[in-house]
Amino acid sequence: MNRIDLHTHSTASDGSFRPAEVVRLAKEAGLKALALTDHDTTDGLAEALAAGEKLGVEVIPGVEISTRHAGDTMHILGYFLDFHSGKLEERLSVLKQARKDRNPKIIAKLNALGIPITMEQVEAISGGGQVGRPHIARALLEGGYVRDLQQAFDIYLKNDGKAYVQKFRFPLQDALGMIRDAQGVPVLAHPFTLNLGSAGALRERFLDLQAHGLAGVEVFYSDHTPEQEALYLKLAKELGLLITGGSDFHGANKPEVTLGNIRSRDRLTYDLVVGLKAWRKQEYGQ
Ligand SMILES: [Zn+2]
Ligand SMILES: [Zn+2]
Repeated sequence: MNRIDLHTHSTASDGSFRPAEVVRLAKEAGLKALALTDHDTTDGLAEALAAGEKLGVEVIPGVEISTRHAGDTMHILGYFLDFHSGKLEERLSVLKQARKDRNPKIIAKLNALGIPITMEQVEAISGGGQVGRPHIARALLEGGYVRDLQQAFDIYLKNDGKAYVQKFRFPLQDALGMIRDAQGVPVLAHPFTLNLGSAGALRERFLDLQAHGLAGVEVFYSDHTPEQEALYLKLAKELGLLITGGSDFHGANKPEVTLGNIRSRDRLTYDLVVGLKAWRKQEYGQ
């Protein structure tokens, strides 16, 4: 009982299981610790922590914040957040509002293209959680406007898609600042999405992020190839960055990914959590 998963989503963002259900699944999967890292919100954390207490699973309060930096978008994970302090919730609510405003804009574009789906339909599909593009994609599929979810993104919803609407993102600095103000540990999520193939370019980027206050890198991840993983691991060690890992579990919204179960699942062990705790103690003195 030493296995963990440090990257999961619930209905508080775009996962299909409620926070307490994610924790119950972690228990069933035999995980010792689980971080709930919903997109841009801490709304699911209280429920997850309560469930963890009841079931004997260590729940790490986390978040995954979308940011922009140097012309790129990147996701920053925050761990062990003191989520009621540091104005974190208040600052994240800016993102929530921006996301709320964005969906009607996307739907208006679809309507203008002759596709009569409604916000009510999309909300019903989301089941009461954060509404986003995956739910709009589902509505397009259910209405018979696309063949599958991939086509919904390809034609309409991806960057430069026919109904794409730019998303608001915090500058990297702000996201790192919010996580640090809440005494959390900031970690770069799934570095393969940076699309930096060469070791040199990646090293530069990691150094840059570290100078901005980044503490670690998500080395072990569902979509990382063995080569990517080896490179990230080497660079993290060389630069003194923490190493983390997780599945990016989304339940039925990403059915190929199950909790704690990535190719390198043997590396998802509790010593990664010990590393996060030690860093936090050293940085914040608690
Ligand atoms: Zn992400
Ligand atoms: Zn994620």
